[in-house]
Amino acid sequence: MEKSEKMTAKITFLGSGGSRFVVLTQARSSGGWILEMDGEILHIDPGPGALAAAKKYKVNLRKLTGVLVSHTHTDHYTNAELVVEAMTSGARIKRGTVIGNKYAIRGGDGHHAVFSSFHLNAVSNYKALKPGDETNVGRIKITATPTKHKDEKGIGFVFEGSVKIGYPSDGMYFNGQEKHFQGCDCLILNCLRPRSDNWPGHMNTRQALELIKKTKPGFAILQHFGMKMLKGVSFKEAKWIEEESGIKTIAAKDGMKITV
Ligand SMILES: [Zn+2]
Repeated sequence: MEKSEKMTAKITFLGSGGSRFVVLTQARSSGGWILEMDGEILHIDPGPGALAAAKKYKVNLRKLTGVLVSHTHTDHYTNAELVVEAMTSGARIKRGTVIGNKYAIRGGDGHHAVFSSFHLNAVSNYKALKPGDETNVGRIKITATPTKHKDEKGIGFVFEGSVKIGYPSDGMYFNGQEKHFQGCDCLILNCLRPRSDNWPGHMNTRQALELIKKTKPGFAILQHFGMKMLKGVSFKEAKWIEEESGIKTIAAKDGMKITV
């Protein structure tokens, strides 16, 4: 294949914020991220403000072909039903795929389902995944990965198409996590805190470094920042990871677009 014909993926961040206070103050937007690859347009973890961020950063949600929710924490799902309505032209055209962890699709154990039956019936198909499950959206293979997080049914995703993208979603590094993310062209890490700051159930940059060293992606992107990662800290931490690992590491900004 000619180099000019090489297939790529485009990623757009409809926010780079996570955690309670960044979300509540909207110090950073929290609309999740968009993956465009192999003719599909997937919206991953459409949190609060996803619709507004999509307008601001010129993403047409009516063109989406899939909506994915990794777990049932508010910063990952609160605009999910509205995003489905956008994808289905107000639930008038049955199209697209919804994928979520068990609680996002079915609720249970104190978690309410993220999607109503009205919204699930509006799409062409929907699936609840548990770690290890695989499914396809068009030509993209999606594998659910395990997490170590407060939503114990939470999942991450690996997207395999023209390129391979890993997204462990929320959760702290755990022994063996690296085996799920080998050979990724890009690894997107929800990195809430700097290396000095441990928070059980969440990833800091020291854990991100460990996962990056053990998976050796083409490059890594840090996002989903808590307050302690703002005011330039995310850039310093990304630089530190890059120096320690030798792997290009980028701190996301709201609206950032990256071609993989
Ligand atoms: Zn979470």
